[in-house]
This record gives sequence, C-alpha cells and structure tokens, in this order.
Amino acid sequence: MVAEQNASLKPYNSFGLDVRAERLYHLESEMHLLEYLDDPEGYGQHSLLLGGGSNMLIAGDIKGSVARVAWTGRRLVEEGDGFVIVEAAAGENWQDFVQWTVDQGWGGLQNLSLIPGLVGTAPIQNIGAYGVETKDSLHSLRWMRWADGEIEEFSNAQCEFGYRDSLFKGRLKDQGVILSVQFRLSSRDHTLVTHYGSVAEELALRGTEAGLRSIADAVMSIRRSKLPNPAELGNSGSFFKNPTVDAQKAAELAQEYPNLAQYPQADGRAKLAAGWLIEQSGWKGRRLGNAGMHAKQALVLVNYGGASAAELLAVARQVQADVLAKFQIALEMEVNLIE
Ligand SMILES: Cc1cc2nc3c(=O)[nH]c(=O)nc-3n(C[C@H](O)[C@H](O)[C@H](O)COP(=O)(O)OP(=O)(O)OC[C@H]3O[C@@H](n4cnc5c(N)ncnc54)[C@H](O)[C@@H]3O)c2cc1C
Repeated sequence: MVAEQNASLKPYNSFGLDVRAERLYHLESEMHLLEYLDDPEGYGQHSLLLGGGSNMLIAGDIKGSVARVAWTGRRLVEEGDGFVIVEAAAGENWQDFVQWTVDQGWGGLQNLSLIPGLVGTAPIQNIGAYGVETKDSLHSLRWMRWADGEIEEFSNAQCEFGYRDSLFKGRLKDQGVILSVQFRLSSRDHTLVTHYGSVAEELALRGTEAGLRSIADAVMSIRRSKLPNPAELGNSGSFFKNPTVDAQKAAELAQEYPNLAQYPQADGRAKLAAGWLIEQSGWKGRRLGNAGMHAKQALVLVNYGGASAAELLAVARQVQADVLAKFQIALEMEVNLIE
C-alpha cells in the first residue's frame, strides 16, 4: 500500500475545499487497515479518518496521515421468515447500497435514499431523513479499536443511538473504525413511512402507490429539488442540528412566534427547526463573499465557489451569533469541524 504525498483532498470532501494532506492512504481492504495500523508513518502519525467527506469541514492543510475508508463489499447473511440480514463493508457508497436493497425488495432504508457518504459512517450520527433513521434497521456492526487492533461487535442497543448521535460520536469518537454494518430488513409486510415531509404529496403527484421503489424515487426527487448537489455547489447538508428546548422556553416561543413549528419530545422538551430560526435571523440566501446559507434551504451552508474554510466558518459563526441574539438559542454544528 503506497501513500500519496502532499495529496489534495478536494475530491474527497463535499465542500470542495482544496486542502492538502501530508500523506493520504487509500485503505482498500481490511488488510490495508492493519498495515496502516502497524506503519509508523501511517497510524503512527494519524490525523484523520476520512469516509466520503460529506459531514466534515476541514479547516486547513493536514499534517501527518489521512486514512481513507475504501474497502467495499456486500452480502446476504441470513434469510428468515419475513426478514433478511445484509452486511455491507464500511467503504460501500451509502446511496448505491440503499438502492441495491430496494431493488432486492428489502424494506427499511428506502427513505434514506440519496444521502451522501459511506455505509460505515451512517451509524456514527445515526443518519436520518423523512421519518426514518439508521437505528431503525441496523442489526449490528463490527468496530476495530485503534489502540490495540481488537475487533468488537456491537448490537443495535449497544450503539446508544440518539438524534444524530451514537456511542461512536460520543465516548468512542476517534477511538476506532467501523469496519462493516449489518442491517435487518423486511422481505415482506414492509413498514412504509410516508407521513413525513412531502413524501405522501410527491407520491400523489406521481399517481403511484406507496412501495419501496416508489418511496425511494419520491424521496430522491424531493431531495434533488430542495438540496444543492455537492458536485455542483459545495455543501455538507444540514450544517446545524435542530435544537431542543425545555417546555418553558417552548411555551414562550409558541406565544411569540405562532408560526414556529415545534416537535414535542418524549421527555417533555420540544425540537425546533433550525432552518426556520436561521431564516428568521435573516440568513436564508445571504452570503458573505463566496460562502453563505442556501437560498432554498437556510440550514445548508454553501461554498459558492472558491470559498476558504475560514470564509465558511465566518458565516457559520455569524449565523450562530445572530440566532443566539434573536432567540437565545445556541445552534450546535452537526458537521465535524476538523482543525
Ligand atoms: C447534500 C447533503 C445532504 C445530506 N443529507 C443528510 C440527511 O438527510 N441526513 C443525515 O443524517 N445526514 C445528511 N448529510 C450528512 C452526511 O451525508 C452524513 O453524515 C454521512 O453519514 C457522512 O458520511 P461520510 O462517509 O461522508 O462521512 P465523513 O464526512 O467522511 O466522516 C464523518 C465523521 O465520521 C468519521 N468516520 C468516517 N468513517 C468512519 C468509520 N468507518 N469508522 C469510524 N469513524 C468514521 C470521520 O472521521 C468523521 O469524524 C448530508 C450531506 C450532504 C452533503
């Protein structure tokens, strides 16, 4: 396995930032990962593990070694009564994997169509969209600890999933590598979620019944119409998390802003739409130079071409300051800031 020296990471991050890595290792098998772990120039000087680069803002050139997850493979592990268990390697492209499961007639992931990134990263922030999250169908995963190369298996319950959160974003952040993920998917009597966002409307518009393929197609069509394509406009999807506030704050906000949608949580708190708060703070479609918040989706920070990481961060920080000043709510970044 050969490392690229002084490699541009532009093709590997969805903001399209032309930052460089002192050494870039393309790990195309689990064997490469073990070689990397043993290499004093590799893991010995490890700085960053890179998946599809669609949930990170790399603030500058990276000293040391960057390891890119690039091992692939998928297989049917088990066929049961009304379900299957399938496994995919961490480096499988998420969208390709999801479409493959839909084409096989296996249900569970269809609402998560067209989310950028790799399979191995999906559990980390429990990716979710249109009323479905990774945790709803994840069966188990294999994980290797950097410190000693030991491999452990985690069940769904052991992953400690939460909203855009898991054990791997918390206690085990940067402690190891997810190697492969198994999903338990339905092979009949599928649970079809269409009530969230405009999925039902899109199906009606197309005159199609709800099914695995029609939902996947509807979701892809909605996403294409709403979200900028990173290949054309650098972005990382939702830049901030939707904030959760306590019941008293929720009641105050409801009185002052009757248009603010609130999503009650089981613990009595309420989740708010960060995009709405950003829009009300005057940031929808607003730019500072080459960086700004998207005109159709205020939650998406966009590189309009040639923006530096500093320019993108300046916009993000100003948005946080303005939302805090107007609503007394601190927005938290969903995207990983690599400094
Ligand atoms: C246009 C757009 C739309 C998006 N829409 C959504 C959405 O609807 N819902 C949603 O939840 N997200 C969304 N995202 C965010 C993003 O797609 C997900 O977070 C995705 O899982 C990131 O995968 P990645 O492989 O690109 O991760 P990366 O950005 O490469 O990595 C993210 C973090 O995970 C770590 N990491 C990567 N691989 C591994 C591994 N195998 N083991 C351990 N750690 C690892 C990295 O070091 C980094 O800290 C969107 C992004 C874009 C650009």
